[in-house]
Amino acid sequence: MNLAQILFTQGFGTRRICAGLIQHGEVAIDGVAIDDPHYEVEPKGLIFRVSGKDWPYFEKALVLLNKPTGYECSQKPKHHPSVMALLPPPLRERDMQPIGRLDEDTTGLLLFTDDGKLIHKLTSPKHHVPKVYEALCKHPVTDEQVAALLAGVELREPDAKPHHRPEQVRAEGAERFDTHGLRLTLTEGKYHQVKRMVAAVGNRVEGLHRSAFGALVLPSDLAPGQWRFLPGPEVLY
Ligand code: URA
Repeated sequence: MNLAQILFTQGFGTRRICAGLIQHGEVAIDGVAIDDPHYEVEPKGLIFRVSGKDWPYFEKALVLLNKPTGYECSQKPKHHPSVMALLPPPLRERDMQPIGRLDEDTTGLLLFTDDGKLIHKLTSPKHHVPKVYEALCKHPVTDEQVAALLAGVELREPDAKPHHRPEQVRAEGAERFDTHGLRLTLTEGKYHQVKRMVAAVGNRVEGLHRSAFGALVLPSDLAPGQWRFLPGPEVLY
């Protein structure tokens, strides 16, 4: 693939803008500036430098963000900026989308990709990818609450008609940490699921953090608001 085409697929602007970046000496491979937009290179495994920053080439990218509070997982946010604002322009440009949603006031592990099939696979209820949430609760967490969450609780849709039967949902894992901490493993992703399940057992979530998605644990050296590329979806299994 030629270098201009590579930059174009990675979100660096129109073909013309990409060619311009190269002609202006902004792009280097292995420390050598390349000023020919037609320079041919194998994209797989390529790391290229644009304006002093290294970028790995990914046909489809997978990105991990440590979401801070105050951002909405929506393309059209209502009250707060979109989480997309935390990603750099080339990633926004290439149509990355969050895989599932976290509430505005939830922190932690959020994935983005431009691979539509992967979004479908990871958000489909059929696939049962376990996610781990750490909730800070208003009241001390009791053994009865933990047992009830594991046994299953009834959730009503917020705007459900009286004749609608509530849904039965259960946590795959539930354990207390400290007096007010509750670690829950869920395989579904219903609207406000953790908050509603905790409310259903008589407690209340005051802070919520997602610490794992499948086999991937949020790395402790990724500060809130920071992101990084993941090598591929295999890290989730
Ligand atoms: N459950 C919630 O209630 N909120 C989230 O952000 C994620 C899961």
